[in-house]
Parts: sequence; structure tokens; C-alpha cells
Amino acid sequence: MTETEKAATAPDLPTEFSEIEMRCPPCNTVWSAPVARRVNVRTHPDARLGILLKTMHWTRCPMCKTPRQIETIFEYYDPEQGLLVQVRPDWEYEAGGGEDWYWARYEDLVLKYRDVEVRVDVVFGLDQLIEKYLGGESAVREAQELWEARRKEQG
Ligand SMILES: [Zn+2]
Repeated sequence: MTETEKAATAPDLPTEFSEIEMRCPPCNTVWSAPVARRVNVRTHPDARLGILLKTMHWTRCPMCKTPRQIETIFEYYDPEQGLLVQVRPDWEYEAGGGEDWYWARYEDLVLKYRDVEVRVDVVFGLDQLIEKYLGGESAVREAQELWEARRKEQG
């Protein structure tokens, strides 16, 4: 079954996780970290918070505890807005050739979801996603306040 068929028959686009192999440069430990391939923010609202706070896709070496960022491509899906955004690494835009790279990736995504009633877009980096679709700086501030309040609640 292709990716497109799977999406078309699904009543909703669910959150999907995968695992990625990480290696720690200081101590050479290898471990596997969970990564989101697609997040549905209706079923997983904390993913939106993780994006706004930029805590999403970080892991830690199990041996020496060095934090490592996981570089990965994932999809942000908001069923309420009928919006699906593919989030790619921010350096890729310049490295890939700018506008042309954007349009090529955008067309791939349109094809992938051609049978699903959803608006799609491609962004490079979490900042672009936040700025374009999540409400920008004020949403970041709200997320920080919410996070603080939660931490206080837990003591
Ligand atoms: Zn380590």
C-alpha cells in the first residue's frame, strides 16, 4: 500500500511515530530516539506546545546525558484548520536552491495528499512554522506562560 492510499482511506490523519538511531560524538554511545513523522494536534495538543517551546525532537545521550537535537522532517496536521504542513530543516532552503527547492518539495507534498481534503504547505524550520501558522511571538509567549503554570501546579 502506498503512502497516498493509506492517507486517503484514513478517516483522519493520525499521529505517527518512528525511531531514529542517534550517536553521541563525545562518548560514541548509540541509542534509538522516538521521532514524530506526523503530529495530529487534535489528538496530541502537546505537540503544538513542544513546537512553540522548541522542546520537540530533542534527546539525551543515555550514558553521558549530553542533549542532542534530532534533525528530522515531520508533518504538522491541524484537522480543525484542514491544514498539513511539512516541516523541513531550516538550512535546507539555502542549500537546496531557495524558491525552486520550496516549490519542488511543495509539489511532492501536494501529490502525496492529492486524495485527501487538506491544504498543504512546506516550511523550513520551526520558526517559519510558528510565524506562518501558529501565531508567532504572542503564541510563543502564551505557551511559555502555560508551561510555567503547569510546572507550578506540579510543585
Ligand atoms: Zn554520550
